[in-house]
Amino acid sequence: MIVTKSPTELDAMAASGALLVRVHELLTSMVRPGITGKELDRAAEELIRSEGAVPSFKGYQGFPATLCISPNDMVVHGIPNKMPFQDGDLVSIDCGVTLDGWVADAAITHEIGTVTAEAHHLAEKTLESLLAAVEQCVPGNRVGDIGAAVQGVVEGAGLSVVRSLVGHGVGRSMHEDPQVPNYGKPGRGAKLTPGMVIAVEPMVTIGSPEVVVGDDDWAISSVDGSLAAHQEFTIAVTEDGPRVLTPWHPAVK
Ligand code: MG
Ligand code: MG
Repeated sequence: MIVTKSPTELDAMAASGALLVRVHELLTSMVRPGITGKELDRAAEELIRSEGAVPSFKGYQGFPATLCISPNDMVVHGIPNKMPFQDGDLVSIDCGVTLDGWVADAAITHEIGTVTAEAHHLAEKTLESLLAAVEQCVPGNRVGDIGAAVQGVVEGAGLSVVRSLVGHGVGRSMHEDPQVPNYGKPGRGAKLTPGMVIAVEPMVTIGSPEVVVGDDDWAISSVDGSLAAHQEFTIAVTEDGPRVLTPWHPAVK
């Protein structure tokens, strides 16, 4: 069942999203070679709790941390650890914040130090696919329009869409209907209506689109070890067009 939100509820979700943007800005100021995921996780949790909010991921189905930190061939759901980031790493940082009961969800892929041209291309095209998806988040469009926009950019750049992981509705719960695949056919799927809020999150690899779950039962990596990227916004569909509730990129502020 898709739960739409009233304009007042969207404003409350935007407040949660604004806090999440502050968390990502803090993390962006901290990421560099030598820092560890554990350090970032602690800083994020401190900021979230200092504002009276809750880290949405921590304890979710037993997940042990505030952030998902997924380096290089890891696509999503990495548990923060004490391994220092290395120059040239490509690291997805995903975070959820619950403020006054409303969840916001957003991820950014960071280039640590100097990355290869191939890694930079992957991160940039994944972001471009997300920005293309935002444009599709208007009343009357369908979920397939979002997926088709992501898929068009990704595959047009010679990259692969991970299909076994998808975006999702978000609100009082982190995962609500509908599912939002990063592939699809225009005009297909659930219709977008004002008040719908969805987390759109392209997950993209350079090689195979197939993924495997790690020994910790959380981390999901590309099956062939190829580099992966992940970028995510929480987006509201409104009469006035797309409203990005986690505007961590200048193009959507
Ligand atoms: Mg997320
Ligand atoms: Mg998400």
